[in-house]
Amino acid sequence: GKIRVYELAKKLGVSSKKLIEVLEDLNVEIRNHMSTLDDETAELIYEMLSEEKKVRNKDDIKKTKEYKTQEEIRVENKIKDKNKKGDKRIIIPDKISIKDLGEKINIEPSKIIKELFEEGIIATINQQISKKDASRIAKKYGFEVVLQDDKEIDNTIDTIDINDIEDQEQEENFVNRPPIVTVMGHVDHGKTSLLDAIRKANVTASEAGGITQHIGAYQVTINGKKIVFLDTPGHEAFTEMRARGAKVTDVAVLVVAADDGVMPQTIEAINHAKAANIPIIVAINKIDKPNANPDRVKQQLSEYGLIPEDWGGDTVCVPVSAINKKGINTLLEMILLVAEMCELKANPKTNAVGTIIEAKLDKGRGPVATVIVQKGTLYIGDAIVAGTAYGRVRAMIDDKGKRLKEAGPSVPVEVLGLSDVPNAGDLLYTVKDEKLARQIAEKRKEKQKESELKQANQKVTLDKLFQKIQKGEVKELNIIIKGDVQGSVEALIRALEKLSYDKVKVKVIHGAVGSVTESDVMLASASNAIIIGFNVRPEPNAKKIAEKEKVDIRTYRVIYNVIDDIELAMKGMLEPSF
Ligand code: GDP
Repeated sequence: GKIRVYELAKKLGVSSKKLIEVLEDLNVEIRNHMSTLDDETAELIYEMLSEEKKVRNKDDIKKTKEYKTQEEIRVENKIKDKNKKGDKRIIIPDKISIKDLGEKINIEPSKIIKELFEEGIIATINQQISKKDASRIAKKYGFEVVLQDDKEIDNTIDTIDINDIEDQEQEENFVNRPPIVTVMGHVDHGKTSLLDAIRKANVTASEAGGITQHIGAYQVTINGKKIVFLDTPGHEAFTEMRARGAKVTDVAVLVVAADDGVMPQTIEAINHAKAANIPIIVAINKIDKPNANPDRVKQQLSEYGLIPEDWGGDTVCVPVSAINKKGINTLLEMILLVAEMCELKANPKTNAVGTIIEAKLDKGRGPVATVIVQKGTLYIGDAIVAGTAYGRVRAMIDDKGKRLKEAGPSVPVEVLGLSDVPNAGDLLYTVKDEKLARQIAEKRKEKQKESELKQANQKVTLDKLFQKIQKGEVKELNIIIKGDVQGSVEALIRALEKLSYDKVKVKVIHGAVGSVTESDVMLASASNAIIIGFNVRPEPNAKKIAEKEKVDIRTYRVIYNVIDDIELAMKGMLEPSF
């Protein structure tokens, strides 16, 4: 009979994503992982499997950072040989000019400039480049970059991206990890009710006695697999975390009430999830209501680029009723299916790295922080740093109130033992010992002011746009448009996106009618966007936050002026505004 793509993938032991790629290569017409295949195609694919597995393994190796081509190895060895004599260890300060770096590693500055250029960085001989860039160049020429005394501190202080931490990880240690899900949608469409229904539907007999703890996230099990839900619904919380540099959510569940349909915050949620580049699953809620109209919801969603699967698109829509607990299991199954396509993996056999999702000061227990471990495993007794807080893991408690000795990838736990209350979005990770943890935290406190300034400078503003384009720092200009009427918002989107040229693409990540809100500013901050208000003003609160986050908000009354300004900014000819 017929077999669905994801079923075949399961049989073959490959991911649906991979199988879809193979099918596309073979020009087999399929829509998505739910599409069916005929016998002949399925058999053909099966025969190809042995060959394909080899290809897949090769692809995997390519993906690891350690993979080098023969040519790269040859060149590298040549350079290493050349530098064999003499001490190859060098110390690189935070900033170094290309000229000085050239002297240190005995390479022509022009060569370094060329290297950088090939990486997309345009720099001149006297220009200061970052330690990170300089180290990379030095390493390329066979040098070992030694860090100064406080090397470890500096190193960890600057670590903001969890992907940087595990450079030398071994592919074979990676295992699948449960997806982490955020629920979004318009107010009163049932986000909280849905989160409750999911939590309750999933309490097994053995756990039923346990007291559910609200720790900011909870884990459920469906068909033997786990899913983690963040307990604070809404795109505001989600984007605020993102603005802090945290990447926690893997999948967004968009709740749309079947009786109310797509509303302004629904559209906001769609755009916030899209800006974060995570898949969206739609839960059409309140289908128990007599005036529920799921088809109208699907129609409206299609207008925003979310085409339902049964209409030929690839957006999974699940009708549910949070009140009657209908469709909850199907929704969970669909989340697993979509997550499977994302190939979420993590290495449990390494030092723990996670993100703080909630933190508070508890009268009896001191600072309590909920962390979702994203890599490695956190153990009792580990020395930890989170933002400017440090300490040792004294106890860990899960969402069922159970004390844990260890917490692996995607496990949310309350951690006791920190010196202070960290911020949501702070990265938490283990270090060698508590002394180092304290040093890092203290140094961070000192640096906080400095780095806040630095961060602010990195944000795009129209004044600095051209400079950033020249330096290759900006390849996409993200814009949020708020306007007084739909017509002008649409006209602006069309006109602005037309300004893209080969060096910079103009991308409107959100456009809507209404004044500039706090949520718009956070989205701009998280996505490095500028905000254009057309015949609307920022709300007082939004204005305050924009100042803090250094988000550029410009207001206009004439469409032509908007286009003119953006065009001039892209060419570096805009008069600075104060
Ligand atoms: P939120 O603001 O999105 O978190 O929405 P809530 O979960 O607070 O729900 C808003 C209202 O809708 C509440 O009065 C709920 O009882 C009601 N509600 C939520 N889900 C359903 C549902 O599936 N069916 C019906 N009839 N009402 C629902």
